[in-house]
Amino acid sequence: MKFYAFTKRLRNEKRPKPTIKDGERRKGMSTVIEDIIARKVFNTRGEETIEVDVITTSGFGRASAPAGESRGKAEVIYYPQGGVDQALKKVEEVIAPEIVGLNADFQEEIDRTMHEIDGSKDFRVIGGNTAFAISLANAEAAANSYGIFLFQYLGGQVANELPCPLGNTISGGKHTHGKSPDIQEFLALPYGAESFLEAANANATIHRKVGAALKKKDKLFSGGKSDEGAWVAHIGNLDALEVLAKACEEVSNELGFECGFGVDVAASSIWDEKQKAYLYAREGKKRDSGEQLEFISEIIKKYHLAYVEDPFHERDFEGLAELTRKIKNCLICGDDLFVTNIERLSRGIKMRAGNAVIIKVNQVGTLTDAWETIEMAKRNGYTPVMSHRSGDTCDWHIAHLAVAFRCPIIKTGVVEGTRIAKINELIRIEEFLGDRAKMASIPTIKGG
Ligand code: PEP
Ligand code: CA
Repeated sequence: MKFYAFTKRLRNEKRPKPTIKDGERRKGMSTVIEDIIARKVFNTRGEETIEVDVITTSGFGRASAPAGESRGKAEVIYYPQGGVDQALKKVEEVIAPEIVGLNADFQEEIDRTMHEIDGSKDFRVIGGNTAFAISLANAEAAANSYGIFLFQYLGGQVANELPCPLGNTISGGKHTHGKSPDIQEFLALPYGAESFLEAANANATIHRKVGAALKKKDKLFSGGKSDEGAWVAHIGNLDALEVLAKACEEVSNELGFECGFGVDVAASSIWDEKQKAYLYAREGKKRDSGEQLEFISEIIKKYHLAYVEDPFHERDFEGLAELTRKIKNCLICGDDLFVTNIERLSRGIKMRAGNAVIIKVNQVGTLTDAWETIEMAKRNGYTPVMSHRSGDTCDWHIAHLAVAFRCPIIKTGVVEGTRIAKINELIRIEEFLGDRAKMASIPTIKGG
């Protein structure tokens, strides 16, 4: 796989480590990696995470890693034993010595080198988040060395489509405590917007209206929000759907374009293996797999849902395939099920399970791995949805990745600092593209 080979490949095995002086002597831009610095920072939950700086002869890149709360079991392991401190040691002692001296614009080589150093299937030795932060900081450093933006560097001239923002308005499930909905996320998707700015405005307006409606509906509502900035209220699943449906309808009418919506069931969180049933504690209901299929099909039809994520637990490919056969004009997306993993996605494709896939680069470790999964998805008619994590940092790179890799949707929240970092970056990208900018279309929803 090639990203953008701007320079001739330099074999580097025996190359002496460059110094800044070597770099200065070189004419023009150079992407030779001079140094890698890793440090401990914090995410929105106050958890420790890793941030990495990659310094090339002509540029600089920085990236930090997010963290999931409702993680898929098949995700890579975030950190080696010993956590972030141990990850920092690994960067210093085993990764930097191998990577310093390579060219940052050979992304595949950097990513492969990290796989080789690690040697496991799930990055348990160096940590998936360590690989993630280096991979992304490296791509940013390469782009910066050429004096261009990351989305231009990875996507080239043709990268001019803005993704539609899929924004969380009400939180439930593992992202909350107490008497909130069992379904994890109630998401707005303003797919009729003609610009990203309009779409972001629609989501902010929907979020505001949802907050006002919850204040009336829930006597105990305190205005509290989850990590992702979505409202937390003492209401049931169907109440939440009613509130969001009404807000989306009003905003569609006010703004003059279609604002759809959907849910992330995150069904692994409510699946009880012993009872072989989904436990809807808030509702006081238990649904076996057949009843779950019925329930999800009913809410899709009743509320005209445009998007449903992980309606079955993470091993139930068959359940997802059955729903996909039954339902039209709705994105049926796998997150915990596929975990951005090419083998799991290819199993899903063979069974025609789902028609969309969440892309969380840190589920799989490197940019190259995620890119390969995206390409496979697109070749097989699956919509890739670039996504944040519930515990995130102000790192905005996924905004660039969504544009570069032509993901028609970005799932990144509506409000809250680390979500706004991505939204505002997309507004800047749209402005930068000027007349060339257009909104990506989502075939499954628009007349699919
Ligand atoms: C999600 O489930 O889509 C999500 C963002 O949650 P987490 O990051 O907790 O996996
Ligand atoms: Ca999810």
